[in-house]
Amino acid sequence: MKKLITTLTLCTLVITAFSCNNGKLNGNEPQTDTTEQEPEEHHLSLLIAGDLMQHGGQLKGALQADGTYSYEECFRFVKPEIERADVAIANFEVTLGGKPYKAYPQFSAPDEFLKATVDAGFDILLTANNHCLDTYQKGLERTIELMDKLPVPHLGTYVNAEARRQQYPFLLEKNGFRIVLLNFTYGTNGLKVTPPNIVNYIDTVEIKADIAKARQMKPDFIIAIPHWGIEYQLLPSAEQKQLADWLLKQGVHHIIGGHPHVPQPIELRNNGNTLVAYSLGNYISNQARPNTYGGVMVRMELSKKGNKAKLDNAGYCLYFVSRPAESGRKNFRIYSINTPDSMLNARERERRNTFAASIRNLFKQHNKGNIKEYKF
Ligand SMILES: [Zn+2]
Repeated sequence: MKKLITTLTLCTLVITAFSCNNGKLNGNEPQTDTTEQEPEEHHLSLLIAGDLMQHGGQLKGALQADGTYSYEECFRFVKPEIERADVAIANFEVTLGGKPYKAYPQFSAPDEFLKATVDAGFDILLTANNHCLDTYQKGLERTIELMDKLPVPHLGTYVNAEARRQQYPFLLEKNGFRIVLLNFTYGTNGLKVTPPNIVNYIDTVEIKADIAKARQMKPDFIIAIPHWGIEYQLLPSAEQKQLADWLLKQGVHHIIGGHPHVPQPIELRNNGNTLVAYSLGNYISNQARPNTYGGVMVRMELSKKGNKAKLDNAGYCLYFVSRPAESGRKNFRIYSINTPDSMLNARERERRNTFAASIRNLFKQHNKGNIKEYKF
C-alpha cells in the first residue's frame, strides 16, 4: 500500500511538472521520459537610453510653486515604451549634490530628477560620465547614497575599492539570463576623483581585468556602455572605432555608447549577433544645436534555450525633446518621433521633422547590418 501511494504521488508529481512546464500538455497525453524534454526558452528585452542632462532651462521648467521640482511631464509620453522593456537602462549624467541646485557646467540636480527617472521605468542607471565629479566627493557619494536608498541599481562610480569589488562588473540576473554590464568614461572634465572614491575610466589595463572577471561570472552576454567620443560629431572618432574593436576582441558582446550629445551610427556585426551603437544622443537636455534635441533608444530582444543565448532582434526608435522655447509650455516633454501632428504646434513639428530627417539620413548612409527603426 505504501508503495502504491508512493507511485501515485510520483505520477502526480510528473503530471504536475509537465502541466507547469508546458501549458499544451494535459494529463490525458501519454507521459514520456522527462529527460528528453526540450529545455525551456527564456526571453528578455533590454532598452538602453542616452544621456539624462539637467540644464538651467530644465530646472526652471520643473520648479513648482511650492519650491519642489516635478519631472513627471517630461517622461509622460515615453514612459509606456520604457516600461514595455523587461529592463531599461539610462545614463544619469548629473550629480545629486544637494542644494543649491546648479546647471551647466557643473550639474547638481534636484533629488526629484532621480525619482522621476526611476518612476519613468528605468531599472538601472549609469554613473561613469564626465559630469560625475561635478559636485566633487560629496556629490559622487550623495548620488550613490540616494540611488541605494530608492533603491535603483547603478554602476560606474563607487565610494571605495571594496564597494567596487563587490558590485563590479555589474551582474544583471533576470528571466533566466545572466548579463554583465560594464560602464566607463573617457574623463571627468579635468576634475580629479577624491580617494577613496572610484570612477571607472577608459583604461584598457583595468578594463581587461574587468572583462576577465566578467567572464568568470559565466554570463550570457557582456555589454559595455562607454562614455566616449567627440561632442556634436555625427560619426565615431578613430579612438571610438579602435576601442570598440578592442572591446569585442576581448570578449565583450555588445557596445552601446554615449556622450557626443548627438546620435552616431549603429552597426549590427557578426551576422547580426553583435550590436555596436556608438552614441545614443541626449535623452533629455536643453540643448538646441542641430541633432542634440533628440536621440535614439536601442531595444534588444534576447532568447535563451539551455545555455545558448542569442540576440534575436535589435532595433532602435527615435524621439525628440520639446523645449519650452518651442512649445510655449512651462516644462519639457520627450515625445516619440511619431507623435501625431495634432499634439504639436508648428515649431515643434518643424523641429521634430528636421531632427528625424537628419538622423534617418545619417543612419541610411552609415548604419551597418540589418538594424531597423521601430515605431512607438
Ligand atoms: Zn558626457
